[in-house]
Amino acid sequence: MTHAVIIGGGHAAPEAVVALRQKGWQGDITIISDEPHLPYQRPPLSKAYFSGDISADNMPIKKQVVFDKTNTQLRLGRRATSIDRQEQLVTLDNGDTIAYSKLIIATGTRARKLPIPGANLPCVHYLRTLDDVTQIRQQVAKDTRLLIVGAGYIGLELAASANKLGAKVTVLETVDRVLARVTCEAMSTFYQDLHRAAGVDIRLNSGVKAFERQGNAYQALLADDTTIDFDCVVVGIGVLPNVEIAQEAGLACDNGIIVDEFTQTADSNIYAVGDCSNHPNELYQRRLRLESVPNANDQAKAAAASICDKPKAYTSLPWFWSDQYDVKLQTAGLSQGYTETVVRGNVAAKEFCIFYLKDDVLIALDAINSPADFMKAKQLIPQQATFDKQRLADTSTPWY
Ligand code: NAP
Repeated sequence: MTHAVIIGGGHAAPEAVVALRQKGWQGDITIISDEPHLPYQRPPLSKAYFSGDISADNMPIKKQVVFDKTNTQLRLGRRATSIDRQEQLVTLDNGDTIAYSKLIIATGTRARKLPIPGANLPCVHYLRTLDDVTQIRQQVAKDTRLLIVGAGYIGLELAASANKLGAKVTVLETVDRVLARVTCEAMSTFYQDLHRAAGVDIRLNSGVKAFERQGNAYQALLADDTTIDFDCVVVGIGVLPNVEIAQEAGLACDNGIIVDEFTQTADSNIYAVGDCSNHPNELYQRRLRLESVPNANDQAKAAAASICDKPKAYTSLPWFWSDQYDVKLQTAGLSQGYTETVVRGNVAAKEFCIFYLKDDVLIALDAINSPADFMKAKQLIPQQATFDKQRLADTSTPWY
């Protein structure tokens, strides 16, 4: 029996299916997903799907015909509850068992919950799945008072999308700047100004203590004891990796499921890919757990290659993007640990880059509406090249 079983129906699963077949996997393939939909694109959830610009029909990453052609069984709307490594069996929530010869765990993450009074009121939403957004968008229209907790990617992308619909948006962030975890102060300031100019009320250093019903609407009680009236709240305060099924099967987990550079766990028949995996990164010389689509796709390919006995280490440079209003942010590399930043370009014209240097070595770049700089940085960062700061800042000469 050769059977590749994939737990989780996010971005990694369809990528793994295609890669397995391309690399010559002859056995069966099954995807188990606790969502009722074909694996779908997640980036449009907070943008085009929320605003109604694309419908659910256009969201699948691969159409059913691709799963038919690759002879892939889909167990949708079913949750995998346990893994028996001895017997090589996965048990589902309806009691069914599926035997595997190779297993890919691609369980992703779940939204971190806000543990405050009123958090179970019907006005409180989290944005992680298609069904979440289908519900949220029924409650947000022109003039809806939308409260967003958390100024990360979810919070800011949703703020921009809801603002375009004419909603009255307030964003609460506990720390003193937006996107604090992923960018430097100058970039946070740029985004704060962008949202405020569009009419979004960005409130920094603002935690929320409770939500309460007030007649037909709701009220949020903030840490400083002020209140905000609202109709709907979306909480985007980060995510937690879904590692429990691996942990209970005895696989090592530490902020994600521990894998090697081939995405393999300590069990040679089990791989973990995407947001739930904690993997070594040679360039940054540390283990990483990345929450990004490119990481899920590339790790899925690496797992498929190993399963087909054509192992290829996963060494991709992390990269990310975010679309808000008329601004595309593209980030190459990870900026944590930088010692200096250099701004190049015209911030007011929304066309600039921020270089993150560690002792003159370029470790990351944020590009605003500057795709060529992003592409170049993606090539150069892995080379660990040093740069002269004056030259980086001087737009009269190319920086590369
Ligand atoms: P995130 O990017 O981790 O941001 C969460 C933000 O909420 C952080 O700034 C966090 O601050 C803040 N926060 C934490 N607790 C809070 C509280 N009690 N009150 C107010 N703010 C609080 O997570 P996310 O925005 O929820 O996104 C969820 C996932 O979707 C992530 O994996 C993200 O990468 C992904 N996503 C990505 C994109 C993209 O790449 N364009 C778009 C949408 C979603 P601290 O850092 O101080 O905790």
